[in-house]
Amino acid sequence: VKGLVFGIGLDVGGTFTKIAAVSREGRLLALSQVPTEPGLGPKAFVSRAVDAVRALESGMSGKARSVGIGAAGEVDSRLGSLRFSPNMRPFKGFPLRDALSRALGRPAAMDNDANMAAWGAFVVELKRKVRNMAAITMGTGIGGGLVVEGRLFAGSTGSAGEFGHMRIVPGGESCSCGSRGCLEAYAGRRAIIETAERLLASGRRSLLRPLSGRLDPSDICEAADKGDAVGREVWSRVGNALGMGISNLILLLNPDVVVIAGGVARAGRHFLKPLREYLRWEPFRRPFIHARVRVARTDNLGALGAGLYSLEVSSRR
Ligand SMILES: [Zn+2]
Repeated sequence: VKGLVFGIGLDVGGTFTKIAAVSREGRLLALSQVPTEPGLGPKAFVSRAVDAVRALESGMSGKARSVGIGAAGEVDSRLGSLRFSPNMRPFKGFPLRDALSRALGRPAAMDNDANMAAWGAFVVELKRKVRNMAAITMGTGIGGGLVVEGRLFAGSTGSAGEFGHMRIVPGGESCSCGSRGCLEAYAGRRAIIETAERLLASGRRSLLRPLSGRLDPSDICEAADKGDAVGREVWSRVGNALGMGISNLILLLNPDVVVIAGGVARAGRHFLKPLREYLRWEPFRRPFIHARVRVARTDNLGALGAGLYSLEVSSRR
């Protein structure tokens, strides 16, 4: 389509970078993927990403108006660089946003991957029809982002929405961040697998037993699909932990919607029921009756959201 306005979004993870071309309305126009290879350094990454963006655009009529980057880690969105990322240490302090912007000759925006996924959920899933929204991303870790009064809310240092490290159990399980009792320590990928392994170690009968030692959340989801009691119990615990975290979010923000996104969220059919059950117990009724909790139906929200956010930011300038 000639004259179509679109943006390019990059979802930069420790292993792969997804690249999406997205229309202003949030339609996915094209998608590709390159290895991030953080060990080769950020400059090599920029040239690989630029080649991939150009290849993506060559199949389309026209060029993207802007480029958005969502990166896994602590992003300084003002400087457009990573402050810290356990999986992309060589990128620390490198001006990724400006390097990509210069190489492509387009304006660029950068924020952390969960914030970009939240923006993607706001535009693509909710069509901007709500005012206040929280997104929780369930992948290796648990992240999150906030849209407040129709705008991405970053907080004072860009760190708003780190829901994964909200404390839900005082002195509880140890978390990847070094603290204890965080939501991620109960509903993150590693925690989900460990819960299943512990239930297996207690001698329970389960379809998961032959997979012990190499379990993945998708196996636990499949087992639950087949009615496996261990699989079901794992997701019921995940639902409870999410319920605790989300009830705090609802009390703090009074959102219209809470969207749960990310690969692990595909098990929503097993954890949404216990989660909603948990929220039903809340005595402070009004915000809980109002807030809808749903699982995202769209894949690649991080890349889509980054492209959409770059369009948003460049149109505001
Ligand atoms: Zn933590």
